[in-house]
Amino acid sequence: MPDLILCLGGTAEARALAARVPVLTSLAGRVRQPALPVGEARIGGFGGVEGLVAWLRRHRPVAVVDATHPFAEQMSRHAVLACDEVGIPLLRLQRPGWVSGAGDRWTRVPTLAAAAAAVGDRCALLTTGRQAVAPFLGLRHAVLRAIERPADVPASWTVVLGRPPWSLEDELAQIAEHGVEVVVTKDSGGPAAPKLEAARMRGLEVIVVDRPPVLAASVVSTVDDAVDWLSTVTG
Ligand code: NAP
Repeated sequence: MPDLILCLGGTAEARALAARVPVLTSLAGRVRQPALPVGEARIGGFGGVEGLVAWLRRHRPVAVVDATHPFAEQMSRHAVLACDEVGIPLLRLQRPGWVSGAGDRWTRVPTLAAAAAAVGDRCALLTTGRQAVAPFLGLRHAVLRAIERPADVPASWTVVLGRPPWSLEDELAQIAEHGVEVVVTKDSGGPAAPKLEAARMRGLEVIVVDRPPVLAASVVSTVDDAVDWLSTVTG
């Protein structure tokens, strides 16, 4: 039987790795109809660190690649703890963060709560994802994008229903229509985001939430480097 490699995450990097190397991709199962990667996939949580330890003991992968989103903090921490306990090499594959350029007005903050404080009384376009709304619930003005209207957002907020990706035209139109004064984003990285370009064009401040620290000992930012690392581990 060929060596099993477990790859965590449904990110672009995870998908690109699965297209290059035979891996078993693990998806959280949050999306109703996930776009499946090339090769084998399993779906759903492992059941905490204990569950992941049990899974690793049962399936004995030769390596684990954590290619989850840069803000999937819990899964990444569980991967470090479980791989340490079972003695399986772990690689963190994480795309580089965004870098500001000429004309950008970015303020970096360490947490979502700090981002909410930095918004103050301005009307914020919140692009931090539906699971990261709670720290902003005290804001008076906000524009939130969602696929379905969330139950608990303040009545004074504007909810824009729709599915990403948002084009530059969408971003400019939403900024104008809803009087957006500041944009809030996680430093997700990846291809240049239209929301960042739109903010630059309109001279708006962008509050960028920094990534949580990487806990894994081995870290790469490209799929090529992940393939090289795997070749050293799998021989
Ligand atoms: P998280 O908070 O770090 O993880 C929460 C729990 O979800 C984990 O403890 C684990 O459950 C399960 N889980 C997460 N990723 C998994 C995976 N690849 N395979 C199996 N179980 C997984 O993660 P999250 O922020 O909820 O993100 C879930 C998924 O959405 C990740 O794969 C991530 O890449 C993606 N995503 C996250 C963000 C973000 O901003 N956080 C943005 C876009 C996409 P158990 O404890 O039961 O094992």
